[in-house]
Amino acid sequence: MAYKTIFGPIQSRRFGLSLGIDVSPDEKSCNFDCLYCELAVAKVTDKIKNPPKVQEILDEVTAALREFPDVDVITITANGEPTLYPDLDDLVDGLNRIKKDKKVLILSNASTIYHANIQKTLSKIDIVKLSLDCATQACFKKIDRPLHTLSIEKIIEGIKAFRKIYHDTLVIEILVVKGINDNREEMEKLNAVLNDIQPDRIDMGTIDRPPAYATQPVSEAKLKELATSFDNLPVHLIYKQEPAKRVDFSTEEIIETIKRRPQSEADVRYLFSKDAQERVQALLREKKVIMIDIAGVKFYASPEVKQKRKKR
Ligand code: SF4
Repeated sequence: MAYKTIFGPIQSRRFGLSLGIDVSPDEKSCNFDCLYCELAVAKVTDKIKNPPKVQEILDEVTAALREFPDVDVITITANGEPTLYPDLDDLVDGLNRIKKDKKVLILSNASTIYHANIQKTLSKIDIVKLSLDCATQACFKKIDRPLHTLSIEKIIEGIKAFRKIYHDTLVIEILVVKGINDNREEMEKLNAVLNDIQPDRIDMGTIDRPPAYATQPVSEAKLKELATSFDNLPVHLIYKQEPAKRVDFSTEEIIETIKRRPQSEADVRYLFSKDAQERVQALLREKKVIMIDIAGVKFYASPEVKQKRKKR
């Protein structure tokens, strides 16, 4: 069946089998002009041209769920920024009525999160993914090239306020671009902000497909090195391919590493030697390490992490 606002399902390494909703099917509508955007270059805007009607989207989702009953998540996204959709609140209510056992996910650039009404709408969504590439205005302007009215300070305050009312799964995505935010200083500032926010998961990656502008990815070794800037937060590194060198961690090193920061299944698979992976499995059997699922990504974590998550 041909749909106007639905695409997929797509198997995503980050969220499972996802049925996508495009709330801006006619043209790109975004208030950022990111250097790494994979969509065609377009003028920045805070409006979606010809937004589809809520009922039209809900009818298509209902039909698509009949066609693809195995999807894990219904993802609100856009050819641009989905929170610019004027009827987002009604759409979220409608999706919550028809989703049954599926989860609703939104992929947002976080630009509107300082509005109380957007916080209220997003708080009704099972998984919220917000982008946060930098913690300083200079870096934000260079990498995300936002509408001139947007400030990173306002966005960060917005995410903090949102976290106070949102108790479901918050994922923060950081995209690293060579020569812009690939330095310790910027990551340490982000670490301070994120320790305040306490997202459930941080997805950290680099440019994967050809972007709109001539920008460069960082190496996987660099990504891994930058990820160590984040204390005690579950960072999920998005790898394109396996790194050449794996590390043969001892049992003590594994316990220490996992205590400092939960390690995703992919981290262990790609970065640990075969013997170290067996040590992780032994620790799992002894319950010195536990497995937690955060929005469809499995992490090896210290048992204390589970208690901390329960308390929130
Ligand atoms: S926020 Fe997303 S859609 Fe908008 S410019 Fe950036 S990458 Fe492209």
